[in-house]
Amino acid sequence: MLIHNIQSTIGNTPLIDLPIPITNGNHIFAKLEMFNPGGSIKDRLGEYMLQDADNRGLLTDQSTIIEPTAGNTGIGVALAAQARHLPVILVVPAKFSQEKQTLMQALGAKIINTPSDDGIRGAIAKAVELAQSIPDSFIPMQFNNPANPETYYRTLAPELIRDLDGRKVAAFVAGAGSGGTFAGIARFLKEQDPTTTTVVVEPEGSILNGGPAHAHRTEGIGVEFIPPFFKEVQADRTLTITDDDAFTQVRNLAADAGIFAGSSSGAALAASLKVAATLPAGSNIVTVFPDSSERYLSESIYDL
Ligand code: PMP
Repeated sequence: MLIHNIQSTIGNTPLIDLPIPITNGNHIFAKLEMFNPGGSIKDRLGEYMLQDADNRGLLTDQSTIIEPTAGNTGIGVALAAQARHLPVILVVPAKFSQEKQTLMQALGAKIINTPSDDGIRGAIAKAVELAQSIPDSFIPMQFNNPANPETYYRTLAPELIRDLDGRKVAAFVAGAGSGGTFAGIARFLKEQDPTTTTVVVEPEGSILNGGPAHAHRTEGIGVEFIPPFFKEVQADRTLTITDDDAFTQVRNLAADAGIFAGSSSGAALAASLKVAATLPAGSNIVTVFPDSSERYLSESIYDL
């Protein structure tokens, strides 16, 4: 395959029918988003949000892009901005993985760290403050930009239906950070088949199932406020997965299936296995593995 820019390889990732034992002989199909050039599902989002802003006339060749992010969206935005020769400032709570911050910088982005204890809200507030002092700045703002769920509704979800080739989807399982992945794909799949059960996955310390927000090791998912995208599409179930369960599945994926997957993928698999145990034989569960374990090696992802 001859290509002329790396951004053209975003999307069209493989869908794996996981070769692991599953209750009732059910199947779990996982979309392997670490195959995107920036290494995560958020490459789709960076490209889609900048293209959408461009289409709306919100960008000029003098624009500075500013985004609050846990990391992967920052890499995706920086990758999309690199192709357009636009400067990028990413506002990242200090706690997120060093590898992701190094990769953003390698793409030319400037990073501003906010205190870990202020969470993603602290990063959002700082991004808004910066934008006020930087002329011609643009904040894609993944947390309330409708282009976020739309990215997945228009790209990943149709790829799933194409690659499933007529197989019925009994359940769709996905983690939520901004909620865009879950909302966009759940809406598409429900339109295809209203009987599909939609399951959102959160780590302990996320607020969807009630309880106070607190720190967790599973990175990329977990919410401090209800994502606005959840107004349009309701999850049929919300499963809370412990860090231990998520990291156990990260290790199992490498040992049993040869897949290097991050902790949010481990949580997605732990939840999918729970859902599989409740479904009749022959059911198909579809989930998303957002990124690779390689960007969490400094966080001892395989050493628990
Ligand atoms: N997993 C990882 C590793 C992520 O970086 C993100 C995005 N923060 C997600 C899952 C969740 O995706 P979304 O923001 O679409 O809910």
